[in-house]
Amino acid sequence: MKITKVQYKIQENKASVPFRIALTENATNDAVLVKITTESGITGYGEASPLPPITGETIGTVTAALDLLIPLIMGKSALALEPIHRLMDTGILGNPSAKAAIDIALYDISAKAAGLPLYRFLGGDNPVIYSDMTIGIDEPQKMAEMAEKYVKEGFTILKVKVGLNPLDDLKAIKLIRKAVGEDVEIRLDANQGYTKKEAVYVLNEMLKYDVDEIEQPIPYYDLDGMRFITQRAKQLIVADESVQSPEDAYRFIKSEACDMINIKLMKSGGIFPALKINSIAEAANMTCMVGCMSESRIGIAAAAAFAAANRNVDYVDLDSHKLISEIEGISGGFSQEGGRITLSEEPGLGLNINLDF
Ligand SMILES: [Mg+2]
Repeated sequence: MKITKVQYKIQENKASVPFRIALTENATNDAVLVKITTESGITGYGEASPLPPITGETIGTVTAALDLLIPLIMGKSALALEPIHRLMDTGILGNPSAKAAIDIALYDISAKAAGLPLYRFLGGDNPVIYSDMTIGIDEPQKMAEMAEKYVKEGFTILKVKVGLNPLDDLKAIKLIRKAVGEDVEIRLDANQGYTKKEAVYVLNEMLKYDVDEIEQPIPYYDLDGMRFITQRAKQLIVADESVQSPEDAYRFIKSEACDMINIKLMKSGGIFPALKINSIAEAANMTCMVGCMSESRIGIAAAAAFAAANRNVDYVDLDSHKLISEIEGISGGFSQEGGRITLSEEPGLGLNINLDF
């Protein structure tokens, strides 16, 4: 099934909720959508949602990388993910979001060709996953109000952004715990904002508020610091920005520098390398989380299928489609009630897409 056409378009997305993280404020939510057509007439859709401080990519670099990658894959079999990833990786270093957009579209095609929804094509049998909802950094009282709102909407797991000021973070979590009660799970993400000593101090204090994990407490490159915190904290230490590729996963696991890995298709370069990261973790008796950047329904449907198909994926953080305005012309893929996401039984990503490319 040869690839006969690859098109892309820039999609401008508006934030529907103000959202600040320790690493960056007002990051763009724009994306590049990809459509791949095959000689059999089956088409697939993918998405690149680049976040510059995480992977070094912008909308401009994604389109430049796609211009370089598209001629390399034109005429190749859409089902041959392994050689296509080799071609992409030897064609250009890095640029994982651009590669993910192609990868997701090809998985959409492969699953459609098999007549299966993507989560079944990947070997899964359960279409239901439970995602958290993320609260950005704000005044602690406002964060507690957001927490209450999300719990009323049916979310049972909250992920709270921290990392700018440890004392404000403690204040926010205290208020949030008071607002939502004991039954809601609270997870943290510091996006590299703490020093290693601050991280150990904050986590020790957070024991009062029953917080069970923190993502990326310190800068991504500090493997020794991540090990220092992992050895001292009672909570799970999750490597996010630190682990982008299967090679990063191997290094961090071997060095005992985390307790869990947050896999994102935009960091890994798509589902094919994400499966490798999950397998490396699983072989080391480590579970994974699946997260997102600012993907719309296309990228979220792909990540949700990956999460649903792999039992080793224990935590799901797929909420970006709720933080940006819905894109007209994209529907389906999954249905959602609170944090409960149920994947479509339609073939591929199960999306209905009515967009001009
Ligand atoms: Mg994170």
